[in-house]
Amino acid sequence: MMENIFNLTAVDLIGKIKRKELKALNVAQQTFARIEAVDPKIDAFVSLRKEKALADAAAVDEKIEKGVDPGPLAGVPVIIKDLLLSKGDLTTACSKILEGYRAIYDGTAVKKLKDAGAVIVGNGNNDEFAMGSTTMTSCYKMTKNPWDLQRVPGGSSGGPAAAVAAQEVWLGLGTDTGGSIRQPASFCGIVGIKPTYGRVSRYGLMAYGSSLDQIGPFAKTVADAALLLKVIAGADDYDATAVNIPVPDYTAVLGQSIKGMKIGVPREYFIEGIKENVERVIREAIERFRALGAEIVDISLPHTKYAIPAYYVIAPAEASANLARYDGIRYGHKSADAENILDLYINSRSEGFGDEVKRRIMIGTYVLSAGFYDAYFKKAQKVRRLIKNDYDKAFESVDIILTPTAPSVAFKLTDEKTPIEMYLEDIFTISCNLAGIPGLVVPAGLTDGLPVGVQLFGKPFAEETLFRAGSAFESARGPWNLPAY
Ligand code: GLN
Repeated sequence: MMENIFNLTAVDLIGKIKRKELKALNVAQQTFARIEAVDPKIDAFVSLRKEKALADAAAVDEKIEKGVDPGPLAGVPVIIKDLLLSKGDLTTACSKILEGYRAIYDGTAVKKLKDAGAVIVGNGNNDEFAMGSTTMTSCYKMTKNPWDLQRVPGGSSGGPAAAVAAQEVWLGLGTDTGGSIRQPASFCGIVGIKPTYGRVSRYGLMAYGSSLDQIGPFAKTVADAALLLKVIAGADDYDATAVNIPVPDYTAVLGQSIKGMKIGVPREYFIEGIKENVERVIREAIERFRALGAEIVDISLPHTKYAIPAYYVIAPAEASANLARYDGIRYGHKSADAENILDLYINSRSEGFGDEVKRRIMIGTYVLSAGFYDAYFKKAQKVRRLIKNDYDKAFESVDIILTPTAPSVAFKLTDEKTPIEMYLEDIFTISCNLAGIPGLVVPAGLTDGLPVGVQLFGKPFAEETLFRAGSAFESARGPWNLPAY
């Protein structure tokens, strides 16, 4: 019988390919066969690049045959969010306004993946322009949570998260502006990390909130995520915000003891609103860290309650500016029904954007407008600083901070939520983006058959510490079985 390669970790798969126990081409072929069989249930992918992926895989095999280094991600199939540019491939932000758009260059993270030997198989579904927490605002379809097909995978990077959880592929790239990697990682029972702002270049990422956006990995294990982040991180001539700080070998710290590590648990994260079953899993995770020798410290992040209002001013403000470029002329959808240039702008945007995106553009335009700027945008920026100060202060006495990732487990596809109710779901993830710090999510346990991820925040550029803590926790937690498909 053929070995089931889909249960392997990325690290193991890459090892087998490098040792010639598996052919990258064969892995890619099996992957496309599996996507064809499984994805109709999950709906994680919005486009595939099959021919190119097979050619990329064949090139990896050829390098290995010739004794040339195939790269650290040799032959591993990867899904990328539909906001990341890969030259010649469809990239639409899951928005009708970019219908049919093909990227004209590789974004830096994507280029680094390709150079490292990864095989990008296609693009994953997301909320339109990454605005949402369910993947339901996509113009294409609803992605299902592999643990329960009646539930959302989370969002906005729900497609990549679901594809990794359903073991259609080994790795994924998502983006996180306010939780879009971490919340779907928690809902889908996988590992996800939002790196420090500036750790990964945003070049070739369609911008949502430029001061908040970061690209980051989805993976089945902490080691796989560490390997992927090491590849995509680093300074970049094309993105001045990608900081020139050396990228450590994140995989070197895995398995190290965390004895004596100080872990802060903020009181403000265990408040009304968090579901009792989620809180139980997180409390158990805290005890597990204690048993590993970590010192658990009660801390306060007093401005947490202002994170949602601040984020939902700043992110839409930046979005309203970033999305001005979609005007029906330069890219994508162009209204067929316009008699003059103004109508062309208005109609193309009215027809091309979905409701949530329009809502954000309107909020953003409002908070930036003369007369309201000081009351909303400027105020939100001040609050952002206070939130950042809370973290700086906390990190004077602790090494990392532990919190829940989301107040609940994955909700039902049919759950009706108002926009405000939906925004409130982001309470535990968005302050991390406002502060620019890294956040790692690791599956902690199940409640009623649904996964709950524990979230760890670190000091700026201290992803290494997060991986160290995450991997110690993961080993102590024990094997984690993803749903079988
Ligand atoms: N749910 C948040 C929002 O809608 C975060 C999305 C994200 O991180 N891209 O803005």
